[in-house]
Amino acid sequence: MTAPEPAPLVGRDQPAGSPEQLRPRRRATVSVDVGGVLIGSAHPIVVQSMTNTDTADADATAIQVAQLAHAGSQLVRITVNNELAAAAVPEIIRKLRGLGVGVPVIGDFHYNGHVLLERYPETAAALDKYRINPGNVGAKRHDEHFQTIVQIAIDQGKPVRIGVNWGSLDQALLTELMEANARLVEPADSRDVMIDAMLASAMRSAELAEATGLGHDRIILSAKVSGVRDLIDVYRRLALLSDYPLHLGLTEAGMAMKGIVGSTAGLAVLLNEGIGDTIRVSLTPEPGAGRELEVEVAQQVLQSMGLRSFLPQVSACPGCGRTTSTFFQVMAQQIEAYLKERMPAWQAQHTGVEEMRVAVMGCVVNGPGESKHADIGISLPGTFEEPVAPVFIDGRLDRTLRGDGLVEEFKRILDDYVERRYPARTLAGA
Ligand code: SF4
Repeated sequence: MTAPEPAPLVGRDQPAGSPEQLRPRRRATVSVDVGGVLIGSAHPIVVQSMTNTDTADADATAIQVAQLAHAGSQLVRITVNNELAAAAVPEIIRKLRGLGVGVPVIGDFHYNGHVLLERYPETAAALDKYRINPGNVGAKRHDEHFQTIVQIAIDQGKPVRIGVNWGSLDQALLTELMEANARLVEPADSRDVMIDAMLASAMRSAELAEATGLGHDRIILSAKVSGVRDLIDVYRRLALLSDYPLHLGLTEAGMAMKGIVGSTAGLAVLLNEGIGDTIRVSLTPEPGAGRELEVEVAQQVLQSMGLRSFLPQVSACPGCGRTTSTFFQVMAQQIEAYLKERMPAWQAQHTGVEEMRVAVMGCVVNGPGESKHADIGISLPGTFEEPVAPVFIDGRLDRTLRGDGLVEEFKRILDDYVERRYPARTLAGA
């Protein structure tokens, strides 16, 4: 496989120090339309997620897709693993549209995608994208099955994601590369051969898809692994091989803290290098919990890197010996919860409110300074300080709060600020 010239980074001339200049420059990629959501470097990085319901249960799956969409997932993938699941897809999508949820739905296919998509044309038409794993479309008739799916995508006018995963890597290809490596005078490390095999699988599949007739702008690539440093190495190399948009994510990231930190570490490095056009954070939920956390984490990664804005950000100091009570922690938590609760209404009514920065600080040391840098900030009194809480608005001291009811008063100030600062949406811009 010969590497083409590295895809250029997308950059704009911006004044020194402007938010646009500080923002990572994106690797230039083509735009792929997934049910009306555009993925590529000319568009904001797209957050996506996946259900864990039994797809054959149309009610449960439609509800979970709707919950994920409501949490902010712009695309939702569902597994289509057997005939019952394939038969349920049109019903799921009818239910969603009936609920007023227009999120594009992606079908995840393994082993039998060629059979299911041929047998259920209504499903093929209803889905907005097909995910193909080239590692499990069939060993002996690999290319034939792969091309069957691609041909259906062409006929239906759908894009595909060629999603390589190291846990289900094309074994024939891996063996071929391992044997070739073993014949070398100085064989490479087996990890490097595994990465070579993942890249070769993605690129050969994309070439085969285009040779079959699928448009260049109908292909998204991914090559997922479960180790952070492996992920970074794989995607850095994959990014140099083409201008297809890349779907980023750490696979099998794990539960809770481990999954969140691992995903964030891997995604942040790549996004900061301009690599990645759509992201998914693959968290294992707590038993019985919903899946919305993975959407929140993905949004927070993008927002903390200045790539997108979803929710007003609260800067809160960690607290120290100057704040021996939990008062300010409780207040920071209450304010964050209030912002979350009010956002749907604010966002519907005010342009740009998701970019608001709020500071909730614990004492006089950094409180006023940090509050001045925020759009609106409050600096609470430390343990031995005078019991007053200065409020800063747009960098200036606006007023000083005292006594009980600080939180309620600060919430009212926030409401007023949003009303004044962020213009009301017009119907056309709503
Ligand atoms: S702002 Fe004050 S309370 Fe908060 S960490 Fe700094 S010194 Fe401690």
